[in-house]
Amino acid sequence: MCAHAWGLPNLTEAIKPGCRISSLIMETYDVVIVGAGLAGLQASRLLAENDLRVLLLDRKASVSQSVHTTGIFVRRTLEDFPLPADCLGPAVRDVTLYSPARRRLELHSNYDEFRLGRMALLYERFLEHAIRAGVEWMPGTQFLDARRMKHHSILILKHSEARIYAATRYLVGADGACSRVASALQLDENREWIVGVEEVLEHVPLVGRPRFHCFLDPRLAPGYLAWAVHDGEQVHVGVGGYPQRFDPLAALTQFRAGLGAIIDLSGARVIEKRGGRIPVGGVLRHLANRSGLLLGDAAGAVSPLTAGGLDPCLRLSQYAAQVISEYLRDGRREVLTAYSGELFRARFVSRLWMRRLIRTIRSQELMEIGCAMMRLPLLNSFAHHIFFGRGSFPDLNPTVRTTAADSASALRF
Ligand SMILES: Cc1cc2nc3c(=O)[nH]c(=O)nc-3n(C[C@H](O)[C@H](O)[C@H](O)COP(=O)(O)OP(=O)(O)OC[C@H]3O[C@@H](n4cnc5c(N)ncnc54)[C@H](O)[C@@H]3O)c2cc1C
Repeated sequence: MCAHAWGLPNLTEAIKPGCRISSLIMETYDVVIVGAGLAGLQASRLLAENDLRVLLLDRKASVSQSVHTTGIFVRRTLEDFPLPADCLGPAVRDVTLYSPARRRLELHSNYDEFRLGRMALLYERFLEHAIRAGVEWMPGTQFLDARRMKHHSILILKHSEARIYAATRYLVGADGACSRVASALQLDENREWIVGVEEVLEHVPLVGRPRFHCFLDPRLAPGYLAWAVHDGEQVHVGVGGYPQRFDPLAALTQFRAGLGAIIDLSGARVIEKRGGRIPVGGVLRHLANRSGLLLGDAAGAVSPLTAGGLDPCLRLSQYAAQVISEYLRDGRREVLTAYSGELFRARFVSRLWMRRLIRTIRSQELMEIGCAMMRLPLLNSFAHHIFFGRGSFPDLNPTVRTTAADSASALRF
């Protein structure tokens, strides 16, 4: 007879000959989703709405804990997904791009281009809707490993220092840039990333219109940007870059100290500090097999150029929910071949090349020249396109594209 599941050292131990594994399994699910970030929250609700039994788990005790994103949503996302209005800040239409010598290039749009999500609240709201759709939620639970059996996988989880086991027909890795699920499923893993750190500030006077200040400065932000977004209510001040080339926290301190001429931070109060890895190597190629698939950052679904990952989270989750539901309904493996990173990568070729180019610019002087060239009409419209264009993540299957109107009624936000 086997010992009780709790406290068993590992599954190999648990499934040794003679062990009745059924006595160890906590529950059996159609789908288990590891990670309750935007990708996991969105996918879990959609799958539960397709009448599947879904478990969503996260090692965090609450979804609002340790938010790591700035939370800038772009126009295309705001138009296509009905994000709850009270979870979004005022619209931003203006961008100022600064060269290393702080020469400015002003970009303006006639549309509401960006909104800063109030992310803790937004995650809570997504979770509420997922639970209402039938998702079972297990916070404080870490995914450790998975073993493939004939018709399902057995998951080894850690909850309150105890090991527990769950069985699932399908496993979804929405567990971020360093995905343990990807490695357990022997799918591709992210190899290239930048790191970003930021502070969220209050009590900062807004002069003029809400604005996204972007600083191209290889010293402070090697391979990416430093930013200060002021939407009139909050200011997010941050730096990002290749971790081998800078000390993010020291760069943030230096950046903040030099911001005084642009934003008056004298009365500012830091209300939150955020940070994390951002995969920038493009969507991974091998994203799915018959045991499971990857979503969001775990799938590398982040724009290699802008490092925006929130729009891809929502779009890819929608597509994945359709693929998984179909696969679990009729078991045809061909359904999974439609969930291939190769299909998405084709849309990112130019952005991957631009990432390679940006990665190579290490000198302030070269960046200064690049910024000066952006004043030329052709490159100026290119800068407009980068900031205000609508070229985010592709909608792979037009039939799954959701309009704000129809998903608003489905979501009842
Ligand atoms: C500083 C910073 C700023 C950014 N700003 C923007 C922005 O303004 N706009 C934009 O579009 N994108 C931005 N991004 C990128 C964007 O935030 C991410 O692409 C997006 O949040 C990824 O969501 P996700 O659900 O895939 O992963 P995550 O939000 O990382 O969620 C993964 C979840 O999995 C859980 N988890 C991990 N491992 C395990 C495990 N073993 N067991 C159980 N749970 C586990 C984690 O606790 C976490 O909750 C930013 C990223 C960073 C780091």
